[in-house]
Amino acid sequence: MVEPKNAEGKVEQALMLLASVDAESISVKEAVEVIEIVTTVPELVRKTIAIAEEMGIVKREGGRLVIKERIIGTKGHGVHVKRRECNAQCMRCGRRISTCFFLIVAESEFGPFGSECIKRLRLG
Ligand SMILES: [Zn+2]
Repeated sequence: MVEPKNAEGKVEQALMLLASVDAESISVKEAVEVIEIVTTVPELVRKTIAIAEEMGIVKREGGRLVIKERIIGTKGHGVHVKRRECNAQCMRCGRRISTCFFLIVAESEFGPFGSECIKRLRLG
């Protein structure tokens, strides 16, 4: 069941994350991994990619998504990475971590992630 109240906000947050990936291009699979930080609802994941293409944030090229527009985190806009010492489990791989990275997207905080996952997603 999709949460209609939050769907739009989630797509927006996922778009911001996608626009923050530090790479020339990413595979669709990698894009999905990034979007899944915000939502794992397949419909919203597909919608995010479709809107990203429509808005010109990404462009499909040979099965990859070329990132055209990058939103760099500035105050009150974009994505910020927060790092702090912790004793937790990475949200993505479940590994025990003592340095936690959080992604701040608009008003929401996602994480914690370990340094490897944040690097792998190219969001750090
Ligand atoms: Zn991890």
